[in-house]
Amino acid sequence: MTKEEIENDRDDMMIDEKEQQGFPLMQCAQEEFDPDQLNMYYVKLFPYADIYKWMSYGNDRKHPACDLSYFGRREFSFILGNDVYLRYQSFNNAAQMENSIKSKCPFKIDIGAVYSVDPAKRNAYAGENAFTPVEKELVFDIDMSDYDDVRYCCSGANICNKCWPLMTIAIKVMDSALREDFGFTHILWVYSGRRGVHCWVCDARARRLNNAQRAAIADYFHVYKGNENSRKKVFLGAALHPSLVRSYQQVLRPFFEEELLCGQSLLETEEKFEKILEMIPDESITAKLRGEWLGNHQRSSNSKEDINRVRWEKLKSHLQSGKQKGLRRCVEEIVFSYTYPRLDMGVTKLTNHLLKAPFCVHPKTGRVCVPIDPECCEKFDPMAVPTLSSLKKELDKGKLENGEGKKLETGRTSLDKSLKVFRDFLEPLLKSCKEEMEISYNAKLQQSKSSSLTW
Ligand SMILES: [Zn+2]
Repeated sequence: MTKEEIENDRDDMMIDEKEQQGFPLMQCAQEEFDPDQLNMYYVKLFPYADIYKWMSYGNDRKHPACDLSYFGRREFSFILGNDVYLRYQSFNNAAQMENSIKSKCPFKIDIGAVYSVDPAKRNAYAGENAFTPVEKELVFDIDMSDYDDVRYCCSGANICNKCWPLMTIAIKVMDSALREDFGFTHILWVYSGRRGVHCWVCDARARRLNNAQRAAIADYFHVYKGNENSRKKVFLGAALHPSLVRSYQQVLRPFFEEELLCGQSLLETEEKFEKILEMIPDESITAKLRGEWLGNHQRSSNSKEDINRVRWEKLKSHLQSGKQKGLRRCVEEIVFSYTYPRLDMGVTKLTNHLLKAPFCVHPKTGRVCVPIDPECCEKFDPMAVPTLSSLKKELDKGKLENGEGKKLETGRTSLDKSLKVFRDFLEPLLKSCKEEMEISYNAKLQQSKSSSLTW
């Protein structure tokens, strides 16, 4: 990780031996984050068994086809409270993982790849490719700070209910494309604890993708290519790809017109509408709209209808009534520029990229990185997720009601709702892992039978 990335507090990290040096990521432990509460969280609430089940993908059973070394070859990394960064941690079982987390109390836990050999013993294996990543979930990282040019409510690490719909859009667009265009089914969405979301695609097919295949999938979603110097931010092509048509009709346009247009007042002031006019290649239209909007500002703001909506309709009618095909496409380009998911491409492209574990606690907000149900992601409120202090209060209250020293039971804290989302994701995943194991085992049996016959 470069110094710049550390300062930006990215949720992801690159594999690099240099990273093992300590760094001052955690200096900002403010009122929301209390290491004692983190300790309590790891002792009483962190879902070790569920994380172990997930990361084992069925290889924790007694089935003869199980690969019992599987979980032990997964890299975990910890960042401790004193900024010490521990890479290549590995555990043979759930109890080892639990003991290590409880004793080290990491401020951040990242999950890396499954390697060819136990990552903790990587130095014992000499030779090229002896220690190499062999599996990892296909992951995506979407960060609100990449949307600063299209949100006016907040910037940087801050988020609010007015800009969060941008993340809802990202979840909806990506989730349906991953399912419908790629056929993936086991997809976990997780709140990053501060200003973004992470996606873990866990199908066996996704976990076994090589770097080139991951890069190809990342490129498929690389529609937004904006930078400060380019007027055109998206390149949609002559005919819109069916996946983009679906995204546009089902998600982007409705969210743009119903939430962002008025929520962010995208056409209200000159500074804001100029950014949109800049994207229209026809000078005569932009001059006309600019003239109207600068001239009738007073009148429109008195009318009952929202000025942003009025102006948007006007802009659309100008562009869509034109005979030039490029101008009609311009409406779509504006909507895509303002709404289409903006991915951190590097996170997706490399098998050995680390990503923060679900149910970690963000050290700057104290918020738990809870799973998000994509089916009802529009209801997800990042401001309402459990924090260390809210969980402590709930536990203390439970203690009062049940008497001291009673063992913690489920149903005791608001984290249970998030656990249910996680388990609803896990159950079908583990079922399909088991089925796949049976199929490959039976195939091997058949093979050995037939080969012994021919022999
Ligand atoms: Zn905001």
